[in-house]
Amino acid sequence: MSSKSLGLSDALHDYLLSVSLREPDVLRSLREETARHPQSVMQITPDQGQFLALLVQILGATKTLEIGVFTGYSALSVALALPETGRVVACDVSEDFTAIARRYWQQAGVAHKIDLHIAPALETLDRLLAEGQAGTFDFAFIDADKGNYWNYYERSLQLLRSGGLIAVDNVLWSGDVIDPNDQSANTLAIREFNQKLHQDDRVSLTMIPLSDGLTLAMKR
Ligand code: CA
Repeated sequence: MSSKSLGLSDALHDYLLSVSLREPDVLRSLREETARHPQSVMQITPDQGQFLALLVQILGATKTLEIGVFTGYSALSVALALPETGRVVACDVSEDFTAIARRYWQQAGVAHKIDLHIAPALETLDRLLAEGQAGTFDFAFIDADKGNYWNYYERSLQLLRSGGLIAVDNVLWSGDVIDPNDQSANTLAIREFNQKLHQDDRVSLTMIPLSDGLTLAMKR
């Protein structure tokens, strides 16, 4: 994915950030450290982090879900926006990536708000459902392996309360979604996900060209 919203010129992107970004120092430090990581493209953009934080505040969220943590920028953005009693249930399979995340969550003083589960996310989500936590989450951010997007979405939808919101990242996939020559598994998965979600009347829907494309689906 790109480091800025698809289709924006560099100059306009710089302007957008110059008049809107309010990135705390701890998030900037994390972003700069992650930029040196070989898989740095997996990090969300700072304007996207700020957008997620605003959504959480609009929702009055106290209980959120994150599927795909990487080095923790999005979870930290959300945790900083949550009230003191708020919690992020975060799912990832990598101890290495999340070791970086934990360090910055500690530094920011919000580690107590984030419950990190190192396991395949479907296992964690199924356990939450088995524990009777359906209908108790306010917000979910899906940004993990694209082949499981629909599975993550279905489980997140069950875990959300009515009026809760699911945000799904990379839905425009650097523009590859409209490249007919791209038949790779990830691209096919995102195309199929977008088409199925378009027909899903369990949610109110919007897709915005923020960063690499972000879909918002509100549970009716
Ligand atoms: Ca992403």
